[in-house]
Amino acid sequence: MLQPDSELQFLKGVGPARARLLAKLGLATVADLLLHFPREWQDRRVVTPIRDLVPEATATVRATVVRTRVREGTGRGPRRVLVLSDLDDGTGVLRTEFWQQRFRAEQLVAGREVLLSGRVTWDDGPKMAQPEVETHVDESGERIHAERIVPIHPLTKGIWPTGLRAAVWRALEATDAMEDPVPRRLCAERGFPDLATALRSIHFPDSFEARDAAVRRFKYEELFLLEVILARRRMRHALEEKPHRIAVDERLDARIRARFPFPLTKAQDRVVAEIRSDLASPQPMHRLLQGDVGSGKTAVAVYAMLAAVASRMQAALLAPTEILAEQHLATLTRWLQGSQVRLRLLAGSAGETEKREARAAVIAGDVDIVIGTHALLEDDVRFARLGLVVVDEQHKFGVIQRGTLTQKGLHPDLLVMSATPIPRTLTMTLFGDLDVSILDEKPPGRAPVTTVLCGEGDREQAYEWVRSEIARGRRVFHVVPLVEDNEELPLKSAVSFAEELRRDVFPGVGVGLMHGRLTTKEKDAAMAAFRDGRTPVLVATSVVEVGVDVPEATVLLVEHAERFGLAQLHQLRGRIGRGKEPGRVILFHQARTAESKARLRAIAGTDDGFVIAEEDLRIRGPGEFVGTRQHGLPELRVADLTTDVRILEQARDDAFALVRADPALKGEGAPVARAIEQRFGRRLRTLDA
Ligand code: ADP
Ligand code: MG
Repeated sequence: MLQPDSELQFLKGVGPARARLLAKLGLATVADLLLHFPREWQDRRVVTPIRDLVPEATATVRATVVRTRVREGTGRGPRRVLVLSDLDDGTGVLRTEFWQQRFRAEQLVAGREVLLSGRVTWDDGPKMAQPEVETHVDESGERIHAERIVPIHPLTKGIWPTGLRAAVWRALEATDAMEDPVPRRLCAERGFPDLATALRSIHFPDSFEARDAAVRRFKYEELFLLEVILARRRMRHALEEKPHRIAVDERLDARIRARFPFPLTKAQDRVVAEIRSDLASPQPMHRLLQGDVGSGKTAVAVYAMLAAVASRMQAALLAPTEILAEQHLATLTRWLQGSQVRLRLLAGSAGETEKREARAAVIAGDVDIVIGTHALLEDDVRFARLGLVVVDEQHKFGVIQRGTLTQKGLHPDLLVMSATPIPRTLTMTLFGDLDVSILDEKPPGRAPVTTVLCGEGDREQAYEWVRSEIARGRRVFHVVPLVEDNEELPLKSAVSFAEELRRDVFPGVGVGLMHGRLTTKEKDAAMAAFRDGRTPVLVATSVVEVGVDVPEATVLLVEHAERFGLAQLHQLRGRIGRGKEPGRVILFHQARTAESKARLRAIAGTDDGFVIAEEDLRIRGPGEFVGTRQHGLPELRVADLTTDVRILEQARDDAFALVRADPALKGEGAPVARAIEQRFGRRLRTLDA
């Protein structure tokens, strides 16, 4: 009996050499091969008489070999071999050619009947180049490569479609010995085929309906395993006990609120209450804060950090860019004027001496709140008593980086903040182990922002608008995709734009320049000059995309808007409309593809980050959107987070219920625990260690 955990080299027809090739596809065992699903299926149930073949069609033919010849190529280089074979089915003659497949000469001997599948070309009669050949037409029993719905598996160099298909066919013998990770009860309740049936139907379906049922089941299975992993992570969080408590009484609450130059919004109040209860609890907080751009996530984070500091703990605020870290430092310095709270910046580009001093102060406990970039993650950054970690703009960091920072404390509380709303399916998967808070309200008094799509013809008018806004003391972001001119791309760069604006368009007006290649000093200077109005126009690359907060900015011009993603444009748009004056976003674009047009229509059509997030996921597809890998989760191969929402909900409900009922996964959950271990064991262990 073939066992699922047998190595592939022992599978009949595979052998050590092919096994090495299959290893490149990540396939080591028979079970791996069975879980290597087809990327498409061809309907080869109908055999076409040669007489009826038409050019460009993909068809299956049953015919007898008339003659086969071998032609050896001459000349230099590797020897070329061409096998030519003519076949006849009584209605006509089909010519075929095979390159570099010498064995065809022995296979296609005159008088043998075979089934051929391939694309038809025309050369004075029907012809097929490199068709697939099914020779098992005489045997009773089942056909593998023709006269059925045939699977097309993902391949690797050196592996033929027929070879792989035949191997999968043989591997099916092991299905009955394979353990189904989905409890039978759930399969029955949800109406899915069991594992053995589904494996047969996904590779060699009897009908497309059976195929669809199998695909649905494997989508469910994949999401079910993922959700079980998340449910267990969540349970582990609940079992952790932190050595500290961060309690906020009414007096402290009032003292913290008094630090903000505004009353908190209702949404901020609600989220603060959620965080307060997490902080006071014996388990560390694991919370995701979602909110649209400008909804005031910083104030919520500051509230939490001040609460931690009041309990004599240190807090760390991790930001993806130095501009943003500096801005957070400036905001906190402003809000905390005259208080005892000690702040410190730790960023990569600071001098070595400065960084050394900062690190020494942090480990000595002479710093209460550390604000930093990736530099915070380095090994030699240690804390005296880290109680709270806040990650701003979490999409710029992976799970491992988050983990690196929390490991610098003893079960510190963790608050991760997203830049923009996250589509619901992603909240249920990538962030499925976190509690979620949502800021669904913007601070009051925000003026509306209009978004317009423009072409070159509108440029003068746009510049005229900019001039009038500058005359009223406002600021303008002018975002350009490229830093410097690049011969390969027909785009004007930020550097050229800045020059042109200074010289020709806004003479006498200060025009600043900001991009990633500037030194920290230069960036600080550019940002400061923009904030205080010396350079009311700031030509910038997307480095200003995240977090930058300049309430006087009322205009955002974007060049080549088609080159930016939807979420990115929404982020950029978030740079304006932060004050009381109405804002305007002017998107210059040369969108050509349907996708980029759809993107721009979506951004102009709504200002609601939650709607945009769903739209972005729909247009880009989840593959592009975020790798599950950087979240330390298995990659989804069958399920699609844009369309499989219902299956995801079912899988999540079932997985969480299973883990609640069988937390150690020793009973009904034992097979799912074994499947998780077998399929993703090593990688998950390093993450969940
Ligand atoms: P984001 O959620 O995008 O990080 P910020 O935290 O930068 O947003 O806040 C955006 C702007 O709104 C900032 O200028 C901030 O000072 C201001 N703000 C935040 N909360 C309030 C509030 N409750 N009332 C008025 N203004 C607020
Ligand atoms: Mg922010």
